[in-house]
Amino acid sequence: MDLGKGSDVAGRLEGKVAVVTGAGSGIGTGIAEEFVKEGARVVAVDISGQQEEVAKRLGSDCYAVHADVSRGADVRSMLDAAVSHFGKLDVLCNNAGIDGAVAHTGEYPEEEFDRVFGVNGRGVFLGMRYAIPKLLENGGGTIVNTASMAAMVAFPGMPAYCAAKGAVAMLTKTAAAEYASRNIRVNAICPGPIRTQITDSLPPELIEGVVRATPLGRYGTPTEVGRLAVFLASDESSFITGDTILIDGGYTTL
Ligand code: NAD
Repeated sequence: MDLGKGSDVAGRLEGKVAVVTGAGSGIGTGIAEEFVKEGARVVAVDISGQQEEVAKRLGSDCYAVHADVSRGADVRSMLDAAVSHFGKLDVLCNNAGIDGAVAHTGEYPEEEFDRVFGVNGRGVFLGMRYAIPKLLENGGGTIVNTASMAAMVAFPGMPAYCAAKGAVAMLTKTAAAEYASRNIRVNAICPGPIRTQITDSLPPELIEGVVRATPLGRYGTPTEVGRLAVFLASDESSFITGDTILIDGGYTTL
């Protein structure tokens, strides 16, 4: 892949080491690609095995690690891999996520709520819990959490998903307030409909309705989200912390 390297212009993430979860597919792959393009070295984390293919394509600046973000021991070892393979940790993108069953709250299976919350909510907490000490050791850094526009508006039939994404927004703000004075910035990206495995697995009437109601009239792309992640991970966003930034084609304006 032509990553545009070799030019004289320094990338916006030159010298940075990033861990990106859910990098085997969709938005996470888009983030990993944009990060490498901007000069970062990336640990591509996923549970699926697809991260191996992504790392092979991106070359020596990308290292694949298998981990389940809902398990503390896995999260610790994916973060250790950044230090053992690339020497340090500067950026964490807590991006891995699942959509889960579709059912209204009064019928939602208890175990499914725990499963979705375990990955989308607790997984983000665990990432921050174990990354922050490493970022502090390194003098600071940035965290970019993937929430969703579902942190701000309801999607009937997705109570666990919406609750977990709302939790990500508040975990983001809390950690931002706690660590601002120690040079760690924490922000969340809130995507609208982005064409990925997740949108392809949703009931067509649900996702097509969302795209139709999006003023820009189309799906967003993982690359567009990756570019926002570059901005939030880099010094270009140096006065932004604790924010939840929509990238939704205008869906939530109406
Ligand atoms: P995707 O399914 O293409 O990618 C998600 C990746 O996360 C997959 O590769 C999957 O294997 C991985 N993953 C799932 N559970 C994991 C676990 N326990 N440990 C490690 N990896 C795990 O979907 P996507 O749309 O790229 O989703 C990425 C993030 O974006 C998710 O947090 C999702 O909720 C969020 N998001 C997506 C959209 C959208 O429209 N696609 C909108 C808003 C938010």
